[in-house]
Amino acid sequence: MTRKHTILKASEIFGESTPQEQMHASSDQGGTDTIDAPSAISAIRQSGLVGMGGAGYPTWKKLAKSYSVVIANAAECEPLLEHNVARLETDSDRVVSGLVLAMKIVGASRGIVAIKSKNTDALDALTASVRTFNDAHPSGPLLSVSLLEDRYPVGDARAVVRDVLGTLIAPTAHTSSVDALLLNVETLLRIHEVLLENRPVATKDITVAGLIDGSGYEHDTSLVLYDVPIGTTIRQVLDALHIATPGPDDQLLLGGPYMGDAARLDDPIAATSGGIMIAGPELRDRGPVGIIVCACGASQDRLTAIVDAEGAQLAGTVTCKNVVTLPDGRLKCANPGICPGQAQAVLALKKQGAASLLISHCTDCTNTVMQIAPKLGMRVHHATDAYLRAGGEHLIRAHRISQTTHQ
Ligand code: SF4
Repeated sequence: MTRKHTILKASEIFGESTPQEQMHASSDQGGTDTIDAPSAISAIRQSGLVGMGGAGYPTWKKLAKSYSVVIANAAECEPLLEHNVARLETDSDRVVSGLVLAMKIVGASRGIVAIKSKNTDALDALTASVRTFNDAHPSGPLLSVSLLEDRYPVGDARAVVRDVLGTLIAPTAHTSSVDALLLNVETLLRIHEVLLENRPVATKDITVAGLIDGSGYEHDTSLVLYDVPIGTTIRQVLDALHIATPGPDDQLLLGGPYMGDAARLDDPIAATSGGIMIAGPELRDRGPVGIIVCACGASQDRLTAIVDAEGAQLAGTVTCKNVVTLPDGRLKCANPGICPGQAQAVLALKKQGAASLLISHCTDCTNTVMQIAPKLGMRVHHATDAYLRAGGEHLIRAHRISQTTHQ
């Protein structure tokens, strides 16, 4: 099921045009055919563009190497976030232009857009843009669309490479090891804006979702805000949207319900910020609670904070057996979203006295937790529950619908 979203321009809610909009009149610096790689890399370096999908790695550094394929990551993996899908609906030609520019800069002969088939409006617009480009360039480079399953974390970089190219790379390896460069939708849009429209990188698209009382929209709608000036605070965004200020018991996240960070009202929107999520209290359970830590979900600190916030007793903490700890301490999944089975972890926590579980698992692993925990009389909570409930969405639980995606 697709989620409802409404697109608002920052100028509409803040009452003044953003640097992106002010520069619109000076757009059109030539087409993708005229691009010169060294000058393009230099312009992108000067713009300060970083990966806008979350990692924040400088884009010019990514573009300074050669690759045979560039993949546009349009998975929009996190629940409630809708701004990348929205951009494909309204600006697919410019996103595809950014993809072609990136391909020319790195010398790639193939460009692939990876998108969930459920996002039909975005998929239609994208398919039309890709067809137009391919028809106009019969001798290449070639663009194509690859359909992704609707499950979390299908947008993880290694999951995208696995599902699109058929190669599972090691947790310690980078996507460059399979000669592929991955860039997210908004990063590609900004590449187009910097190189062909002479626009600065000064704004960020975000999604606001959850308890949006006062905005005039229902909770089951995600508010997509185009071009919010970077540095705008969460408080300024909520005030401009007339959203009631979250109370002391409410929760605020900067990012999506899975991977977002606990935030405060005066935190600024950064180039990597995905969204503002507002929810009520996260856990009404005195425990004892057992935590299972995942590589692709809420951190152990966030999970522990959820338990502490309600004064619940912590029975113990275990880690999904797919988790690999890198030398720098980061957690990676051995095979993102393909569950190794969670029975062992659930039984271990039961043995430690857990009456309930708090997880932040991928769709597949949540499924396996739900196959055993309720039979043992254990209540199951997911770190995303409060946000999905606030946003009028189904909770992440048993997932019985066939996930087969036809290309
Ligand atoms: S297999 Fe485990 S570590 Fe990997 S995504 Fe699922 S829950 Fe997370």
